[in-house]
Amino acid sequence: MQIKVSKNIRKIKFRCVKCGNCCKAFLYEKWRLELYRNEVEYLEKIGYKDFYYQRSGSFFMRTSSHGCYFLQGNRCQLILRHKWYPWNCSLFPLQLVKTAEIIEIRLNPAAEDICNGIGYGKYLNNRIKEIINQVKYFMTYGEPDIYGRRFYSRKDE
Ligand code: SF4
Ligand code: SF4
Repeated sequence: MQIKVSKNIRKIKFRCVKCGNCCKAFLYEKWRLELYRNEVEYLEKIGYKDFYYQRSGSFFMRTSSHGCYFLQGNRCQLILRHKWYPWNCSLFPLQLVKTAEIIEIRLNPAAEDICNGIGYGKYLNNRIKEIINQVKYFMTYGEPDIYGRRFYSRKDE
């Protein structure tokens, strides 16, 4: 399996401005947040339940009328309480598209419409280097590193 980085995304600038739109975007059915089995197990272990549903063998985050199950008052309760959040949240505005032969790192198509951080901050190049390392781990073990680095603090932007 190969890792492919979509053309031109390294030169996109991004800084999360904490608008929370990616956590609300489920409302508009722009994207579904896929969770991995070890993430579901981790969240269950620390006491959460009813936060996901399964479809075709995959796990997805459950939503309420205002967005993600863990969004409260425009803030992620997982980050607030546990300094942790799912890998796919961490990757946004990028996403992984997986086929049998390739894992492609690309801009989430929904991000162009909803992400207010695009065009600000640093080029995505450095973040992509880190994501490639995380994808290598994912390819080796079949799931993300549950304790791997997450991109949520200002110093990462
Ligand atoms: S888990 Fe947190 S960061 Fe991820 S979508 Fe839900 S509220 Fe947003
Ligand atoms: S990643 Fe984009 S959409 Fe999500 S909170 Fe940050 S700026 Fe807003």
